[in-house]
Amino acid sequence: MPKLDDLYREVVLDHYRRPRGRAAVDRADISTEGFNPTCGDQVHVAVRLDGDRLEAVQVDSRGCSISVASGSMMAELLRGKTREEAARLTAAFKDLMHGRAGESPVDLGDLEALEGVSRFPVRIKCALLPWTTLEGALEDRNHA
Ligand code: ZN
Repeated sequence: MPKLDDLYREVVLDHYRRPRGRAAVDRADISTEGFNPTCGDQVHVAVRLDGDRLEAVQVDSRGCSISVASGSMMAELLRGKTREEAARLTAAFKDLMHGRAGESPVDLGDLEALEGVSRFPVRIKCALLPWTTLEGALEDRNHA
């Protein structure tokens, strides 16, 4: 039997090698870039909204395996969610990264494979980059 760590590594590598949600989004309502200078990760996030729902989500990452995998998982998880659900998932993933897993009773799916990253403070920024990039853009929109 493979160890849990090995299974998690496989999930992360699969998202890194075949990132989901890379296709460009037509008529995007949100189009934003994020950068993590500590590691050099870059991400482009685009979203088309349908009312309150994230109808289409594009995440195009250039960077380390953790940032690319996290962005791929985000694209998969947030597509079709409402902004409120997206905010809840973002908060739950931040909790996971800051070692507060389980405080938010939310199913994070493949993202749970990144839990081990929380033991490496420098890499937490890699994992959170796509999420904080989108979160910032959604907040800016609220205040526009
Ligand atoms: Zn990185």
